[in-house]
Amino acid sequence: MRTARLTSGRHLPIGKILCIGRNYSEHIKELGNATPEAPVIFIKPASSVIGDGEAIVIPPYSHDCHHEAELALLIGKRGKNIPVNRAMEYIAGYGVGIDLTLRDVQSELKKKGLPWEIAKGFDTACPLSAFVEASDVADPQNLQIRLTVNGAIRQDGNTSGMIHPIPAIISHMSCSFTLDPGDVILTGTPAGVSRIAPGDHLVAEIPGVATLRVSVA
Ligand code: ZN
Repeated sequence: MRTARLTSGRHLPIGKILCIGRNYSEHIKELGNATPEAPVIFIKPASSVIGDGEAIVIPPYSHDCHHEAELALLIGKRGKNIPVNRAMEYIAGYGVGIDLTLRDVQSELKKKGLPWEIAKGFDTACPLSAFVEASDVADPQNLQIRLTVNGAIRQDGNTSGMIHPIPAIISHMSCSFTLDPGDVILTGTPAGVSRIAPGDHLVAEIPGVATLRVSVA
């Protein structure tokens, strides 16, 4: 079983991974998408998680795997229909994750109106860092998110650019899905997504919070 590790030494088995799509306007523009009225929500299974130092395996049915570096929230207590003004109490820790996306496969599925799981939930599709305790992050809505591929900067955004801020995401998701300790929320990606290839080395970083190093097999 995959386990989320907190800097305090606490461990939580990873549950479901809830993700929000299109949460930064510059990223919506780069893909030519429309800004959704309600948040776009999807789930990655716990089986898609890999940790720091592990390798991404791009499935053979794709030739266009994209990185999406995102602030990851680790949920610390159970909640349903969580009000916006209580949402932050449910966060145990913060980390960085990569929402790997098979863009070619996802585009085909979108055209046909089909679900995205095989484009976003495949094995190794969710690299996650360790998590720092929530109390150690002064302002999670003002964090730099960077991703480099082979040392070159591809993504460099700030969580202040979110369309739906963290409390709104938690509140909204908890109306459809009971949140449990060990659940992870990926909060959307800033601009700069691009293709990765076998042999690449990726570093996703939220300075002062987390660093995640993965390679592509
Ligand atoms: Zn994403």
